[in-house]
Amino acid sequence: MKCPRCGNRDPHLIGQLNGRYYCRACIQFNRQFLDEQHFDKPQIQTVHETVTYHLDFVLSTQQQKISDQLILNYERGINTSVMAVCGSGKTEMTYAVIAKVINRGGRVCFAIPRRALCVELYERIKAHFSGISIGLFYGGCHLHYDAPLIVCTTHQLYRFVDNPFELVLLDEADAFPYYKDRVLQAILKSCVKRCCIKMSATLCDDDQKDGEILIMNRRYHGANLPLPHILLVPRRYWLSLIKKKINQMIKEQKRILIYVPLIADVPQYVQLLRPWFRVKGVSSHSSDINEAVSMLRDDQIDVLVTTTILERGMTVENVQVFVMNASHKIYDERTLMQIAGRVGRSVNFPSGDIYFIDQCFSKEMKSCIATINSLNQDTV
Ligand SMILES: [Zn+2]
Repeated sequence: MKCPRCGNRDPHLIGQLNGRYYCRACIQFNRQFLDEQHFDKPQIQTVHETVTYHLDFVLSTQQQKISDQLILNYERGINTSVMAVCGSGKTEMTYAVIAKVINRGGRVCFAIPRRALCVELYERIKAHFSGISIGLFYGGCHLHYDAPLIVCTTHQLYRFVDNPFELVLLDEADAFPYYKDRVLQAILKSCVKRCCIKMSATLCDDDQKDGEILIMNRRYHGANLPLPHILLVPRRYWLSLIKKKINQMIKEQKRILIYVPLIADVPQYVQLLRPWFRVKGVSSHSSDINEAVSMLRDDQIDVLVTTTILERGMTVENVQVFVMNASHKIYDERTLMQIAGRVGRSVNFPSGDIYFIDQCFSKEMKSCIATINSLNQDTV
């Protein structure tokens, strides 16, 4: 017995209702009976529409190469993992293959683990593509189920198992809650008719077994990724250390992000810094995260203290970063890579400083530095 949606075969996770078996592994996405076959269901017939897209910039040689390879792999039916450093314009590299599939009458899905990133991705794609309707699905929003191009969270993919896509793109493949969730991963597989493109800034072990890996190790502006400075100092000196550095940064009209490991650390740091700087704090408990980021961008505050809630998908020009307590277990290598990736993203400010501050050096900090070094030396 096997669940047609998530592939579960574990008898402990199979229940019975009115004489029919159903899957308990993926029950959070409504009840799936094992005798329901998805291919029996009517398939969406999309009206053939011609899609065009425009880019705000010309692809770099490396981006163009990856863009061409994605088309080739699609034609051969090969899955691809794209490892692209933060700020390398990875979404834009996929536009050509998306347009190709849709113009041949196929349907494409662009999935991403988090709701806020999903809306941002949808807005970006909507601004760049014309000639077609684009669907948007996240908890509470169901727009255009039958559109040739769907943008959705990974939690909404189950709705499309009955109507799989020629091509599924998964952005931020290593982000919570998709990463390490076997049910979501299996559902994604069920949504793929031909092939799948996974993208992230850090490679997962799973990706390395699956299809071809393409690496984009240069940002669009071509500058090296900033290498974090490691400052190992006793905790009692941390405040005076960052105060001194922040003062200097403010003189140079830079913006500052401070990452702290725990939600409870946020108000503490805000309180400690408030006598000297214009500071605000956010965590997953805050309702005004986007507003706080805008305030930092608009120079209404000097410093934003945050948890890893702002680890990815956010760009603030000319930002410098501190990671406090950087050896804390919450900071694994990919999280540190993502945080380091906040710095030096824009063409106007292609470099910047990032400090990992703690009393000791963790294995994860070491791997992060080693990875950035090898990316910068083109030795990956
Ligand atoms: Zn299932």
